[in-house]
Amino acid sequence: MLKLIVANWKLNPTVEKEAVRLARAVDTKGVVLCPPFPFLAAVKGRVKKGVLGAQDVFWEGSGAYTGEVSGEMLHELGAKYAIVGHSERRMHLGETDEMVGKKCAAALRTRITPILCVGEPLAVRRKGTAAVLRYVRRQLAVAVRYIPKNLRRSIVVAYEPIWAIGTGIPCHVFEAERMVKACAAFLVIKEKFRNVHGLYGGSVSGQNAKSYLDAEYIDGLLVGGASLRAEEFKKIVAAGR
Ligand code: PEP
Repeated sequence: MLKLIVANWKLNPTVEKEAVRLARAVDTKGVVLCPPFPFLAAVKGRVKKGVLGAQDVFWEGSGAYTGEVSGEMLHELGAKYAIVGHSERRMHLGETDEMVGKKCAAALRTRITPILCVGEPLAVRRKGTAAVLRYVRRQLAVAVRYIPKNLRRSIVVAYEPIWAIGTGIPCHVFEAERMVKACAAFLVIKEKFRNVHGLYGGSVSGQNAKSYLDAEYIDGLLVGGASLRAEEFKKIVAAGR
């Protein structure tokens, strides 16, 4: 199976021209490009092999929700995936597991596959594996309460320990695989999702990507910083081939 490599560009690049240039440079099968909302249409026009993703989605389809973007709008723009519950949104915008669950449900309703992000802060990691498992299982359990049973089809879960994001301190492969496997098993066995892919994210680089992609239970990667450097990102993609 082709591993999924998701590029989370966050609030980058600053101009559309640069977004289009980057998209053209890294457009490959199995890649999901998630540019900022205003660049989605321009990037869509240039992506031939990869697919388009959004960095967020709102839970309502229309109404008095200033600044929000619906799943229907994203679907119309051609987005196939939406990142939901990234730790930066949880931290800076106060997103809760309830909001994350509602966003996942909205994505699924509008035929967009959610990339549900979970992961623990350093203080929890310091308490050991059992505490990490409890923390992440709870994030998932609360979120999925808001996803009706009939929508529990395809979902992507990304295990992203907060202490590994943008720090240059990646999670050990053994631990990352254990967590990805636990998240996927929880969603399939306990919550009855039909099709679950598990990703790892956190300081992935051209150098360490292969070790994650060789792991049996890791179905792909969610890449932040390195996805903005075309040559580095291409190395990550090549590591999964
Ligand atoms: C992310 O933001 O999802 C991420 C994994 O970032 P980075 O690759 O920069 O650690």
